[in-house]
Amino acid sequence: MRLCVYNEGLLGALAEDGTIVDLTDLVPAGTPVAERMNELIASWDAAHPVAHDRVAAGGGTPEAAVTLRAPQPRPRNVIAAPVNYHKHQAEMGGDSGVYQGRVILTVEVRKGFVKASTSIVGPDGVIELPWPDRRFDHEAELGVVIGRVASRVAEADALKYVFGYTPLLDITLRGDEDRSFRKSMDTFTPIGPYIVTADDVPDPENLDLWLTVNGELRQKSNTSYLIYGVAKLISVYSEVMTLQPGDIIATGTPEGVGPIVPGDTVVLTIPGIGELTMPVVARN
Ligand code: MN
Repeated sequence: MRLCVYNEGLLGALAEDGTIVDLTDLVPAGTPVAERMNELIASWDAAHPVAHDRVAAGGGTPEAAVTLRAPQPRPRNVIAAPVNYHKHQAEMGGDSGVYQGRVILTVEVRKGFVKASTSIVGPDGVIELPWPDRRFDHEAELGVVIGRVASRVAEADALKYVFGYTPLLDITLRGDEDRSFRKSMDTFTPIGPYIVTADDVPDPENLDLWLTVNGELRQKSNTSYLIYGVAKLISVYSEVMTLQPGDIIATGTPEGVGPIVPGDTVVLTIPGIGELTMPVVARN
């Protein structure tokens, strides 16, 4: 199932007839708009039979007639994997890399960092670059949405804790500031347009992903090249922090990262998960 947040913050799903059916009543009335997806995910065991019936019935609003927002506007935590593809490690420290000559440590050493959840933006938004004299890069990633409270989960069990998957961009300021600063700016975590539930993703560790800027191919890889796969990341992070329903893990980016500038259009495609198109603008 493909879940979304649309128009004035309604919960929805893409139905079999191509319309968006409203699921907002499946969470308690009075739930703050930004919390609705957290509520739906936390109550999914009870909610999903109703949601499935509505998806089969259809009769909602045509997809083209709604405005799709970030499908998970306010996770409690956004945890991200640093340098989780070997070819990305090589490019960052190599002769033409932005951190040329430095030792680039992978996820095996660095483990993880936190992005501010306020950096999330949806397909209705833009990537806003604050400073004209600094380099900002695109990073194409698979986003994992946690479905259940997860503490000290074994790798073999970890995928049972996944709610779904979404295309995710980890927009990055290059430089010597801490990762959590460089990657937490407003609009630096575009996600969407949908969360695809885990039952519709047979193998999250074998997904093609690619990214274009103004139609030019910049990144192309497959999640099978992840150093720490999805299950391993959940195991590693849940060993030290209790993951909450709705939390997002950014799994890391493959090789091909490069600068973006105002006026660019970035498109991330993950077949079976979705295609996310984001314009890039300068901050006013
Ligand atoms: Mn990243």
